[in-house]
Amino acid sequence: MSCLFCQIVDGSVPSKAIYQDDKCYAFADIKPVAPVHILVVPRSHIASTAHAGGEHKELLGHLLLTAAEIARSKGLEQGYRTVINTGDDGGQTVDHIHVHLLGGRHMAWPPG
Ligand code: 5GP
Ligand code: ZN
Repeated sequence: MSCLFCQIVDGSVPSKAIYQDDKCYAFADIKPVAPVHILVVPRSHIASTAHAGGEHKELLGHLLLTAAEIARSKGLEQGYRTVINTGDDGGQTVDHIHVHLLGGRHMAWPPG
């Protein structure tokens, strides 16, 4: 198994768990860029949004709603940002789809 986030999901690479259920796992980013920086990943391997299909519709919705639920639990009433990087131009560095939940500071727009 060479996928880092599959290894995090199965526990062979340690991580700081934030939330988990039968479909997804959320953990603290190892190099946070905001006071709250959490990654929400599906337990099953999907490389990116570019690799996702109609059969993943419900799962992708679940990732976003889970990020929103975690944001509520972290008290991010002032708002937050959810980001999914896809491919080289999108800045994706780990090829297992993940939602970044960023919060606790003001986010600039447009992103770099
Ligand atoms: P991407 O650049 O693919 O959108 O995001 C990958 C994220 O994974 C980065 O924010 C990076 O800090 C995080 N990351 C990379 N390796 C690890 C790791 O071993 N553990 C954790 N918790 N996060 C990681
Ligand atoms: Zn994977």
